[in-house]
Amino acid sequence: MLDVVIIGSGPAGLSAAIYAKRAGLEAVTVEKNPMSGGQVLNTYEVDNYPGLPEINGFDLGMKFREHADKLGCEFKTASVLGIKKKQEAEAELRAASDAVEEESGFLVETDEGVLHTKTVIAAMGAGHAKLNIPGEEEFAGAGVSYCATCDGAFFRNKVTAVIGGGDVAAEDAIFLARACEKVYLIHRRDELRAAKILQEEVMSLPNVEILWDATAEEIKGKEQVETVVLKNVKSGEIRNLDVDGVFIAVGIIPDSEILKGIVSCDEKGYVIAGEDCASDMPGIFAAGDIRGKKLRQIITAAADGANAVTAVQEYLLRSKITK
Ligand SMILES: Cc1cc2nc3c(=O)[nH]c(=O)nc-3n(C[C@H](O)[C@H](O)[C@H](O)COP(=O)(O)OP(=O)(O)OC[C@H]3O[C@@H](n4cnc5c(N)ncnc54)[C@H](O)[C@@H]3O)c2cc1C
Repeated sequence: MLDVVIIGSGPAGLSAAIYAKRAGLEAVTVEKNPMSGGQVLNTYEVDNYPGLPEINGFDLGMKFREHADKLGCEFKTASVLGIKKKQEAEAELRAASDAVEEESGFLVETDEGVLHTKTVIAAMGAGHAKLNIPGEEEFAGAGVSYCATCDGAFFRNKVTAVIGGGDVAAEDAIFLARACEKVYLIHRRDELRAAKILQEEVMSLPNVEILWDATAEEIKGKEQVETVVLKNVKSGEIRNLDVDGVFIAVGIIPDSEILKGIVSCDEKGYVIAGEDCASDMPGIFAAGDIRGKKLRQIITAAADGANAVTAVQEYLLRSKITK
């Protein structure tokens, strides 16, 4: 039986793999994509990871993976489909035959077979909710972004639009207003959902203009974003807004589907776990963007991976798992 199965090889999973290897744990990291790196692979430049200024996201993802490979970390390319507590899975078998001995730990079911493990670190990350409008995918990384903190600096003295009306959209507009010439905040309703204090700050900024009752219908351009097509939901009027960048802040979706019914998640689907990454199911830990926390960045994901392995080690010392 493995000591730990790490699901996902973004910054959290790769950090966990490195720490697990150095701790002498028997670990396998399962990644569904042919490449490791997670969301970082889709980031054109990362300029907030200490020691590696202005690094291309793809290169950073590769560096993380190369480090893990150099240490001899074991990887498996497969999609994890579900996790079962071993006793439960075997109770089903025992019903048919009483030859199976009492065991514990987990069965991690993948599309490439089943892994037996004492613990699991879930590091499946989270994806940004999409608008699913024409041009959104085409211009991703070419003016369309889902992360103002990450990409805002590339739009200094330019005109940008933020789409959304919640806290993240308001925070993004405030953040962008510091560097951009003009920021449009496009919201489909006639009032923001963001916290009052954020609303007040947005409204006090001279270079932020809120366009109410408007939905983005299409993003257009040649090589980069040039225009966002807006529709007034009350009048039906269509207008073209010239912008250099579009920041989409309509929510984030944690990739926690396979954990449903196994660990407790909050109302948005984030795994409820503290800094030690321990979920309410003993032996299952959640690291990175999938965990309920304030700041979802590469550095906090990598920190979670390290903390999760420390918690796994402590758990393995405490618990008596039979093979
Ligand atoms: C466009 C963009 C720009 C960003 N820029 C920055 C930046 O400049 N600086 C910064 O600090 N942060 C930035 N971020 C945020 C940062 O990328 C994330 O916080 C970080 O990647 C989270 O790491 P993670 O390991 O938790 O999850 P992820 O990076 O999401 O990795 C999760 C991994 O799990 C795998 N996976 C999911 N489900 C399964 C399954 N069932 N079976 C097997 N594998 C699975 C996925 O394929 C993926 O590889 C940016 C994000 C985006 C989207």
